[in-house]
Amino acid sequence: MPEPLSPAGLRALDRAHVWHPYGPMPGRQEPLVVESASGVRLRLAEPAHGQHELIDGMSSWWSAVHGYNHPVLNEAARDQLGRMSHVMFGGLTHEPAVRLAARLVEITPEPLQHVFLADSGSVSVEVAVKMCLQYWRSAGRPAKQRLLTWRGGYHGDTWQPMSVCDPEGGMHELWSGALPRQVFADEPPSGFDAEPDDAYATHLRELIAHHADELAAVIVEPVVQGAGGMRFHSPAYLRVLREACDAHGVLLVFDEIATGFGRTGKLFAAEHAGVSPDVMCVGKALTGGYLTMAATLCTTAVADGISRGEVPVLAHGPTFMGNPLASAVACASIDLLLGQDWAQEIKRIEAGLRDGLAPAAELPGVRDVRVLGAIGVVQLDHEVDMESATRATVREGVWLRPFRDLVYTMPPYVTGDEDVARICRAVCAAAREG
Ligand SMILES: *Cc1c(COP(=O)(O)O)cnc(C)c1O
Repeated sequence: MPEPLSPAGLRALDRAHVWHPYGPMPGRQEPLVVESASGVRLRLAEPAHGQHELIDGMSSWWSAVHGYNHPVLNEAARDQLGRMSHVMFGGLTHEPAVRLAARLVEITPEPLQHVFLADSGSVSVEVAVKMCLQYWRSAGRPAKQRLLTWRGGYHGDTWQPMSVCDPEGGMHELWSGALPRQVFADEPPSGFDAEPDDAYATHLRELIAHHADELAAVIVEPVVQGAGGMRFHSPAYLRVLREACDAHGVLLVFDEIATGFGRTGKLFAAEHAGVSPDVMCVGKALTGGYLTMAATLCTTAVADGISRGEVPVLAHGPTFMGNPLASAVACASIDLLLGQDWAQEIKRIEAGLRDGLAPAAELPGVRDVRVLGAIGVVQLDHEVDMESATRATVREGVWLRPFRDLVYTMPPYVTGDEDVARICRAVCAAAREG
């Protein structure tokens, strides 16, 4: 075993050599060094603001829904490790991937029958887009190559996903000239419970009708727009999209990478609307936050359409496609989720977030407080000062990662009531001091 690095030595090497998400090189912020994690707690290599441990209010970006170091997921990984960690998927197959694909078909909307196991969320969106474009090419409609989405979305950081992220949200604005030019509808009106706005529904219908000849698909995050702004909208708009897509021969893609596996109170957010997409992406919580994996599901109509074309295959095949280790943990994670009254746990956390975040509404500088399922958001009327906001949350013993004007949390489903309350206190502290 190599000598362990001291936390200070590790940080110096990190700053000199290691990129972090959306970070500069060399790094400017001092990242906290995590030594281990268990349950909902991250254990730090050295105390920060007096805290050795932080409650993870982020689920490591929506993924660690069962918390860390879970005995059942550890066992699934160990068991699979003893057989094989990986084997190529071209010409070979194996039980973990087949089991996972069958399980995903079983738990997602009925029309989705075929599964592409990708290695990250962004790649699963690339695959979804490729499926849609190829479907129309095979159907003799090669001009149908553009995508329509609504503003305020986030679909990942690779090229096609970037082209459907919010064009003014900041993160990918730099590339607007180089990306494929997609069709953008206005942001959906805010509010999960808000009465659907007829004028907005008409706007969606007209835009889809107007561009139908060049549109391959509409792609949206159903019900919750995540990294594009943490906004919630009425499920009614998903029904409008479904109807308009059917009427005008456009495919519908739901990106459930953030919303999937119970986060919004339904197993998949599409269920709030009672509609099924033609293509659907899942990721993030798929492996319970253990390993990187995502999946693109499609209907038999889409798969058959592709297979009838002049090139009757889907030309995509990542090296780590269907990774057995990730697949085995994903199966265990899904069983763990569905083997409990998960909907009740989400309701419990939702109630805790509503109670705990209510005081934030009274704070100066707070524009909005909103909660849906196990997601809590406090929106400020100004950009968060990351340094003081992070200091405020760490002092409370909580890990949060605010962005733009948002302090938000999506805790692991196993977070106890007292820990939910503490997360809420940290959100309020960050809203006050950030
Ligand atoms: C995170 C996310 C992605 C990208 O997934 P990665 O695994 O980070 O590539 C795509 N869509 C949505 C809605 C996401 O939240």
